[in-house]
Amino acid sequence: MRQEAILSPLLKELRLPTMNRLWKEESEKAIREGWAPTHYLKILCEYELSHRNNRKLARHMAEAKLPKGKTLETFDFTVVPSLNKSQIHAFGSGEIWIKNGKNVLIFGPSGVGKTHLGAAIGEKLIESGYRVLFTRTTELVQKLQIAKKELALPTALEKLNKYDCLILDDFGYVQKDQAETNVLFELICERYEYKSLLITCNQGFAQWDQIFMDKTMAVAAVDRLVHHAMILELNVESYRKRQALKQIDQNKERIEKN
Ligand code: ADP
Ligand code: MG
Repeated sequence: MRQEAILSPLLKELRLPTMNRLWKEESEKAIREGWAPTHYLKILCEYELSHRNNRKLARHMAEAKLPKGKTLETFDFTVVPSLNKSQIHAFGSGEIWIKNGKNVLIFGPSGVGKTHLGAAIGEKLIESGYRVLFTRTTELVQKLQIAKKELALPTALEKLNKYDCLILDDFGYVQKDQAETNVLFELICERYEYKSLLITCNQGFAQWDQIFMDKTMAVAAVDRLVHHAMILELNVESYRKRQALKQIDQNKERIEKN
């Protein structure tokens, strides 16, 4: 029997598609260059592993549903002097916080880059090997509410535990509704000291009893979120507004020149 006929089905059965694709070509190279059998095998294993990691990374990027183009590379740190660039990059490595289920809370008014920064940290976390889900908080709350109605909330919360970091965007937009905020509170309790949350919010803690039904629940939620949290305050002018003003200035200059 020819080698292909023997090897290919075995590699297929072992789920080694890259080795299966490359073993022949590499064996010809091995013979040509006089490789030791261990070297040949090592090369094939390395290809398989590297392709497997790439596929995994692509899967994790797709499942995270990050907004497109919001990366640390496209984030202009000069407009937010309160941010420490190397600290933000360190958040992306996940080392200080993800392993211990700590949280990152990003506060600031509209348009200052909270969502951009959250998504950018999320992308770096994925590149560092973590699993992430980006979601608008209201959307997730609606899904959890449906699960609760179907008596499947524990399963739904458990499913989210596969994500090392949940990015809850626009936390402050959750409506003050008992059922909604209850599921949000249960989510916070489920992940407390176990799995991380990255929250973006345009309301300070003082206004959180508008998110949660009563003060007691708001205090309990803040307590759990802040206990192990790094807090970033982006108190700068809206980036959108700044860009719009710049555009107006440029147009004015152009008109004056003509
Ligand atoms: P927020 O979530 O705080 O309302 P966004 O993150 O949505 O603000 O930012 C508004 C827009 O401005 C987005 O298109 C974002 O990419 C851009 N932006 C905000 N801050 C920066 C920044 N520092 N560098 C580059 N783009 C930024
Ligand atoms: Mg936002």
